[in-house]
Amino acid sequence: MKILLASSEVHPYSKTGGLADMVGALAKALAHAGHEAAIVTPLYRGLREKFPDMRHVDWYLNLPMGSRMVEAQLWSLEPQPGLTIYFVDQPGYFDRAGIYHEANISYLDNAERFIFFSKCVAHLARYLPWRPDLVHVHDWQVGLVPALMVQQHREGWIKPPPTCLTIHNLAYQGVFAPDTFNLTNLPEEFFGIEGAEFYGQLNCLKAGIAFADRITTVSPRYAREITTEEFGCGLDGFLRNRQGKLTGILNGVDYGDWTTTKNRFLKASYSAARIRGKERNKLVLQHEMGLPMSPKTPLFGTVSRLAEQKGVDIQLGALEEMLSTGLQFVLLGSGSPLFERAYLDLARRYPTQVAVRIGFNEGLSHRIEAGCDFYLMPSHFEPCGLNQMYSLRYGTIPVVRAVGGLDDSVVDYTASAELADGIKFREYTAVALAKAIRKALALYENPTLFRHYRRNAMSVDFSWERTVEDYLRVYRGAVGAA
Ligand code: ADP
Repeated sequence: MKILLASSEVHPYSKTGGLADMVGALAKALAHAGHEAAIVTPLYRGLREKFPDMRHVDWYLNLPMGSRMVEAQLWSLEPQPGLTIYFVDQPGYFDRAGIYHEANISYLDNAERFIFFSKCVAHLARYLPWRPDLVHVHDWQVGLVPALMVQQHREGWIKPPPTCLTIHNLAYQGVFAPDTFNLTNLPEEFFGIEGAEFYGQLNCLKAGIAFADRITTVSPRYAREITTEEFGCGLDGFLRNRQGKLTGILNGVDYGDWTTTKNRFLKASYSAARIRGKERNKLVLQHEMGLPMSPKTPLFGTVSRLAEQKGVDIQLGALEEMLSTGLQFVLLGSGSPLFERAYLDLARRYPTQVAVRIGFNEGLSHRIEAGCDFYLMPSHFEPCGLNQMYSLRYGTIPVVRAVGGLDDSVVDYTASAELADGIKFREYTAVALAKAIRKALALYENPTLFRHYRRNAMSVDFSWERTVEDYLRVYRGAVGAA
């Protein structure tokens, strides 16, 4: 099949979270499986310098944005056979210090930036000589693409390919003031209750849900959760009405990047059979973070956006209680200044037990996954979550709240003593998390059982080779129906 993907972030070109990992890995896996994939993504600052093989495409885009026209150029890169990345070069929109915000303040023209980007995607879907069989868009930033394609169809595009929308996080919908709808140049009827309108505002994700032929989300449990009031973020009813075209597919892991052997970010290689290297990575991490180098002290870690979703409040509460046991905790993250300050404050009060790095650091994220004994992920909700899956491969036992993809990817002792590879808790409270940490400490004190968990964890397979088949089934269903 020929699949055109579109996303505002794609690893290794740009990344703020799991969306980038997923789109980059899915496209690679499609190409690897013998299909043809292309991705459209913005050309952010510095990319041409970082990827000098990028080629200028002899094609100028000039698209209406309300009453004016906006131009863009196109660059391309072929990182592997069967995979092309198209970069939309519009310096006014994308040559900036951040992807969505600077200093925690969202760009005021985000609606305009991503409406324009969506128009470029719809335009390429129609005019690329390569002719995709299906267009797969990801999250609100490209949520308007299916609607734009429907309109192009009405205006004479005889057989547009079907579309698939993946919701990576329903909490981010791209909701903007109603007058931004004018920038779409879509007829007014698209701004109705069955379309892009949401309590009088423009909702880009809702437009995608309304007009895409298929909808997927990134874990089976989250697919069920988002049709409930608790997790539906105001769109549960709208999604319930479209349940027939909604599928949950657990994200895969790119084990080429997330590997414990020959990983450029790690000091020592290791495997389930040769675990000594993990112990060395633990000491290296303790040293790097400025904590006492102590092989016997249980070391917990987290790498995360510091947002409410990630369970920061209960994590801070549980740590306050559990630090009295002597455990160590390391955190890499950035996000809400309030949460950043709270973690920095914890580190100041417990300098020999807690170390915090604020920022985005790919290498350190691997070293935390590799060096820790346990990984904490007490999310309030979690569409899929990747770090718990990275932890499993790195032999770092995840302690997770049983929601969304966390519930789908971690096996607790109560579910199967034989296959157990992590610790789960249900209630969203600091007390419940502290209890789960206490279980982790008990496990740590039982080397035989701990080894059993580690072996299970490291042998679980979330590779994309399997996941890609699930997506192909969805694609074929959409193409068949079309
Ligand atoms: P989300 O997409 O909600 O942020 P996921 O667990 O799905 O959460 O994916 C997060 C991805 O972003 C992982 O690859 C994780 O390692 C990475 N990440 C998050 N914060 C940081 C950070 N501060 N530095 C480096 N990588 C980070």
